[in-house]
Formats: sequence, C-alpha cells, structure tokens
Amino acid sequence: MFDNLSDKLDKALHVLKGHGQITEINVAETLKEVRRALLDADVNFKIAKEFTNKVKEEAMGQNVLTSLQPGQLMVKLVKDELTELMGGEAEGINLSGTPSVILMSGLQGSGKTTFSGKLANYLKTKKNKNPLLVACDVYRPAAIDQLHVVGDQIGVEVFSDRGNTDPVAISEAGIAYAKANGFNVVIIDTAGRLAVDKQMMNEIATIHKAIQPQETLFVVDAMTGQDAVNTAKSFNDILNFDGVILTKLDGDTRGGAAISIKSVVNKPIKFIGTGEKMDAIDVFYPARMAERILG
Ligand code: GDP
Repeated sequence: MFDNLSDKLDKALHVLKGHGQITEINVAETLKEVRRALLDADVNFKIAKEFTNKVKEEAMGQNVLTSLQPGQLMVKLVKDELTELMGGEAEGINLSGTPSVILMSGLQGSGKTTFSGKLANYLKTKKNKNPLLVACDVYRPAAIDQLHVVGDQIGVEVFSDRGNTDPVAISEAGIAYAKANGFNVVIIDTAGRLAVDKQMMNEIATIHKAIQPQETLFVVDAMTGQDAVNTAKSFNDILNFDGVILTKLDGDTRGGAAISIKSVVNKPIKFIGTGEKMDAIDVFYPARMAERILG
C-alpha cells in the first residue's frame, strides 16, 4: 500500500535534474511528497507543514541537488529531523521511590490494563523488580477481573477492593499494602471513559494529587490518529504527565500520532505496545519510528 518514499524522491529529483536548471521550486515539489507521506502517516497538517519548511532550509544548505542520490540524501535529512522531533534517545521511567508509584491514565480501550500488565512483566523480568498491580476502575467490575487475569498470566499480584467505590482510598491502600509486603513498584490502573469528560478528569486529577506518583503515564491508541493528539493534550493539561505509551502499533497505522503528540505536549514517548500478549512491549526508539513513518 505504501510506496517507498526514498524511491519516489529519487525519481522526482532525477526527472527534475534532466530538465535543465534545478531550483528551489524543484525542492519544494519533492517536499510535497514528504508532506504527503507524513499526512498519510496521520501527522497533523500544520506540523507536517512546519516540518517540511524546516527540512527545506536544511536541504538548500546541504546542496542536496548536486549530490549523486539526491532522493536518498533528502530522505536521510527527513529521517534525522523526524528523529530529533520525536525526542532523540529513549527515556526510561523513574523508579526512585520506595515503592515507586506509577499511575496509568488514558481513555477506555486505549490499552491501559493490558499495558499495566506488560509493564509489570517487563519490570519483573528485565529490571528485577517486584511489582504490585492495583485495580482502581471502580465502575467496571470486568476491568478488575481483567487485571486479575493479566496478573495471573504474568505471576504478579493484583490488589483490588471490590466493595470500595473510592479510587483514592484504593490507591492509598494498595501503596500501603506494597510497603508492608515488600513490593518495590506499584502500578495503578485507573478508570477511563470512551471520551474525555469532566468526571474522569477530576477523578484522575484527585488520585494524582493524593498519591503523588513518581511517574504518570498516558496511554494512547496509535490507531486513533488526530484524536490521540487532542486526548493527549487534555490529559497533559490536567496531569502534566511524564511520558506517553503508544499502543497498537502492530496494526497498519504508520504511527504519525507519535510526531503530533510529541509536538503538542512535548513529553517523551517511553514505550510502545505491539500486540495483545504480555511480551508485546518495546522501548520507544525515535529513529525506528521515523523509518516506520516514512515507509
Ligand atoms: P483499557 O480499557 O484502556 O484498559 O484497554 P485494554 O487494556 O482493555 O485494551 C483494549 C483492547 O485493546 C483489548 O482487546 C486489548 O487486548 C487490546 N490491546 C491493548 N494493547 C494492544 C496492542 O498493543 N496491540 C493490539 N493489537 N491490541 C492491544
């Protein structure tokens, strides 16, 4: 479905080279291809435009048109810029607390519960931690069951309190339980809704304020494109979160939401979810994402 951008640009520039003088306008033409690739990958229009303007300046400065493979050089420029835009090197999560408390936020269906399990599994198997999962969705009993299923799969204990309708009290009890029982990481899975609403925002803000987590993560479905950006902004305005988790990158999405979200909230993307299984988690690498977005 997706043509190789490098080939497209090479062709475009070679054709132009064959027709006499190569000008700034020709570069602009090829940058249209770049912009189209970004838009196809679901990058916000304004961001794509700003981005190609920046690349254009770079391209003019680097004599792209006199090089042997102008298309490839152009793609390299674009990849480097994209990588920088998405945040340079991968960033880990803050595990400094005793226990370290990680608060998960995001809409219902974004993959929060699944990712809570994946993260617990990752910390247990790769970082030698002893995590506790805490179920704080007081509205959907099925969500509590789901977290227990996940916990059983990975051999991680789940703290829940089915009769309790106060997520702050459950979070606090979960943290106290972790302290008393030697858990060094607490991952709190919270209730999401299908769209941003005031009650959900108030609730997550209240939990956040009460427990003061070391790390607040925002989970978002990469397939939701532009909506993902608006949701990220709403949650960031309330929580000033520490990082983004981009899920469902195993689907056909090119993942342009990564660029848009990073540009809008300026928070690092820390992990990606690449499937439903507990080991389908990867640290986010901007350079790999740039390759994926450009195809
Ligand atoms: P929550 O409502 O935010 O807790 O979302 P869930 O964790 O229940 O996930 C919603 C659905 O998305 C479930 O069917 C998950 O199996 C699925 N899911 C979660 N993460 C991924 C992922 O990275 N890839 C795929 N393909 N599916 C995922």
